[in-house]
Amino acid sequence: MDVADLPGVPDWLPDHLRDDGIEELYPPQAEAVEAGVTEGANLVASIPTASGKTLIAELAMLSSVARGGTALYIVPLRALASEKQAEFEQFEQYGLSIGVSTGNYESDGGWLGDCDVVVATSEKVDSLVRNDAPWLDDLTCVVSDEVHLVDDGQRGPTLEVTLAKLRRLNPDLQTVALSATIGNAGELAGWLDAELVDSDWRPIELQKGVHYGQALHLEDGSQQRLAVRNNEKPTAAIVRDTLQDKQGEDGSVEEGGSTLVFVNSRRNAEAAAERLASTVRPHLSAEEQAQLEGIAADIRDVSDTETSDDLADAVADGAAFHHAGLARGHRKLVEQAFQDRLVKVVCATPTLAAGVNTPSRRVVVRDWRRYDGSAGGMAPLSVLEVHQMMGRAGRPGLDPYGEAVLVASSHDELDELFERYVWADPEPVRSKLAAEPALRTHILATVSSGFARSRTGLLEFLEQTLYASQTGESGRLGMVVDDVLTYLERNGFLDVDAGELDATSLEFPTANELAEERAASAKIDPDDVSALGLYHLVSRTPDMYQLYLRSGDREEYETALYEREDELLGPTPSEFEDERFEDWLSALKTARLLEDWASEVDEETITDRYGVGPGDIRGKVETAQWLLGAAESLAGEVDSDAARAISEARIRVEHGVREELVDLAGVRGVGRKRARRLFEAGISDRAELRDAAKPVVLAALRGRRKTAENVLENAGHRNPSMAGIEPDPDVEVHGASPRDGEGDHEDESEADQSNLGDF
Ligand code: ADP
Repeated sequence: MDVADLPGVPDWLPDHLRDDGIEELYPPQAEAVEAGVTEGANLVASIPTASGKTLIAELAMLSSVARGGTALYIVPLRALASEKQAEFEQFEQYGLSIGVSTGNYESDGGWLGDCDVVVATSEKVDSLVRNDAPWLDDLTCVVSDEVHLVDDGQRGPTLEVTLAKLRRLNPDLQTVALSATIGNAGELAGWLDAELVDSDWRPIELQKGVHYGQALHLEDGSQQRLAVRNNEKPTAAIVRDTLQDKQGEDGSVEEGGSTLVFVNSRRNAEAAAERLASTVRPHLSAEEQAQLEGIAADIRDVSDTETSDDLADAVADGAAFHHAGLARGHRKLVEQAFQDRLVKVVCATPTLAAGVNTPSRRVVVRDWRRYDGSAGGMAPLSVLEVHQMMGRAGRPGLDPYGEAVLVASSHDELDELFERYVWADPEPVRSKLAAEPALRTHILATVSSGFARSRTGLLEFLEQTLYASQTGESGRLGMVVDDVLTYLERNGFLDVDAGELDATSLEFPTANELAEERAASAKIDPDDVSALGLYHLVSRTPDMYQLYLRSGDREEYETALYEREDELLGPTPSEFEDERFEDWLSALKTARLLEDWASEVDEETITDRYGVGPGDIRGKVETAQWLLGAAESLAGEVDSDAARAISEARIRVEHGVREELVDLAGVRGVGRKRARRLFEAGISDRAELRDAAKPVVLAALRGRRKTAENVLENAGHRNPSMAGIEPDPDVEVHGASPRDGEGDHEDESEADQSNLGDF
C-alpha cells in the first residue's frame, strides 16, 4: 500500500513519511490499515520485532488527533517513555503537542489535558485514573505497546486493569494493542473487541541457529564453520567472525558487521563488554579509535561513577554494555555509537531490548537462563523473550540478512536449544490477575476510586479484564473475588456488611473514612518520627522493590537494626520468624540507601556500597517520594502532627539533601551539589538567594554564567543577568571536580537529581 493511499490520516503525513524513506507500508501495516486502524477501529497487532509496529501506533494516534481527539501511548517501562516521546516529537512541526507523564505520582497531570499525544507507563496511567484525571475522559485513542506483558506476574495485572478501566471510562475509545508474536493473539483480540493482524512477516530475513564446537548450526539445516581459538570463549569467536569482511560466492565482499550479545544480569553485561573489548580493539581503524575516544569522554561527562568509567573504557575500545541501570545519557550515547557502526559489540540485558531500536548483523543470546526469585534459582527464559531478542538481528537495507544464535556447550545442549527455542512457538499469553496480591490491590483501588461500589459492580467491571475472558469456568471469577473481599474485610480495608449478602447492598467506605479509622487506632508521637523510620516504613510496602541481602549483609544489618531499632515504626519481628525478619532487614538496607542519598552521600559511594546502578537509586527515590507523598496526604486528612516530619523526609529524599538544604534544593536548576555549594558560600535559603551578591552566586556555581542566571531567575531574582559580573575570589568552592555529575550541558529538568539514571 502506497503511503499516498492512507485513509483518515492528516494531509501532511504521506510527504512526511516519504521524507523518512517510507514509500510503501510493510504488509502487516497495510493489513492494519485495511482493518480500519486509521478510522477508529480497535486492533491487536501481533507481529515480529522490528516489523514496524511503531508506525501502526502512529497511524492510529495521528488519525485520531486529526479527527479532533487525543491519544495515549502506554509504554511498558519508564525508561522507554522518553525514547518514545523523542520519537513522537517529530510531529510537533505540524502543530501537535506531545507530553510525557512520569515522575510525580500524585498529580492528576492536569497540564496533560492540553497535549494531543501523551506517553506514560501503565503504573502512571493507573495512578492518573485513581486521581480522577479529568482529561482521561476525553481520550479517543489508547495504544498499548508490548501488550504481551499482561503475562508478567509483577506488572501485568496493572496493565490489564488499566486498559479495562480506560475502556470503561470511555466506551468509544479506540484501543490498539501491539504485541510480539504470540500463540494466542486471537484471545487478546477477543478481549479487546478488536480486529486482528497476526503476521510472521519480517523486513529482513532472519536465520536462527545455535553455535556449538567449531560451527554455527542454522535452522535451515546448513552449517557454517565458525572456529573458536584456544582460550577463547565462543561469544568472542562469534564477535570476531562477525567483524571480518566476507567473500560472497559471487565474489562480492560483504563488509564486517556488529553483534548484540544478550546476557542475564547487569554485572554479566559489564564483564562481557570488558572482555570483548580486547576482541574488538585490533579491528578498529585509527579514525574509529579517535572518534571512540571522543564518545568515551562524553560518557565520562554524564556522571561521575564507576559504571560511567567502565562504560567509557569499553567504548574507547569499540565495545559497550547496555542495561536499565545506566543513566539515560549513557544509553543514548551507546545506542547512537552502535547505529553509527563505531561501537561493534553491545552486551545487553534483555530489559530494554524490546523497545530500543538497535538492530545488528548478528545477535547472540549467550545466557538462556536467568535468576528467578520465585523459582528459587536459575530458570529458562521464555520462547517469547528469546525470539524478541533474536528479532533484533539484521539491519534492513544494510545487511543481507540477520543471524541470531544461541550458544551450546555440549551436543545435548545443542539439541535442547533447537527444540526449546529455535523450532519452538512462543507461549500463549495468560492473565496473571488472579494472583492474590495483585487482585487485592486492584480490587481495593477499584472500590476506593469509585469504579465499583458493590459486589455486582465489581464483577461487572472485572468481566472486562483478560482474566475473565480467559476463565471459561463459570462462577470462578465470583469465587476469587469473594476470597479477596473476605481478606480485605478481615484486615480492615473494606467494610463489607456480612449480614447482608445481598450483593447489591454492599456499600464500601471511601479511602478517607478508612484512613481516619486506621490512623485513630495507631497514633504515633510526631517527635519520635525520624527520616530513617519513614524510609523503613515505605520500604516495607510491596510497592518498593527492596534491596536483597547479600551474603555477609545479614550481620551488618542486624547490628544496624539493634542500633537504630528505636527509630523504626512498629514492632520488630522476632528473629525466629525467618521470612518476616529477613524482610525487615532488607527494608532496613533499602531505607539506609535512601537515608544515605538524603544525607548527600555521593552517588558513586552509594552505588558501591549497595551494589546498584545509578538508575536503581532513582527508582527507589521516586517510589519513596510517591509513598511518602501518599503518607503525607493521609496524615493531613487525619490532622496528624507527623505530616511535617513526613514532608521533610520526602523533600530530602527527592533532592538528596540534608535538612538545612531543603528550601534551596527546591529551587529549579539547583539540585543537591549546587545547593551545598551555595550554602557553603553563606546562602542558606531561597530568600537569601534572591538577595545574594551576584559575584558570590557565580563563584559558588563555579563561574557558570548561564547556570547562575537560570538559578537566579528561578529563585525569583528581578535581574538575573550575569553580564559583567566576575566570580568572588574569596568564595571557596569544594568538590569542584570538572565532572561531579552536574555537567555543563545538562538538561534543566534532570538537574534536580544530578543525573540519577532512569530505571
Ligand atoms: P518494532 O516496534 O516493530 O520493533 P519499529 O517500529 O521500531 O519496529 O520499526 C523498525 C524500523 O523499521 C524503524 O527504523 C522504522 O523506521 C522502519 N520502518 C517501519 N515501517 C517502515 C516501512 N513501511 N518502510 C520502511 N521502513 C519502515
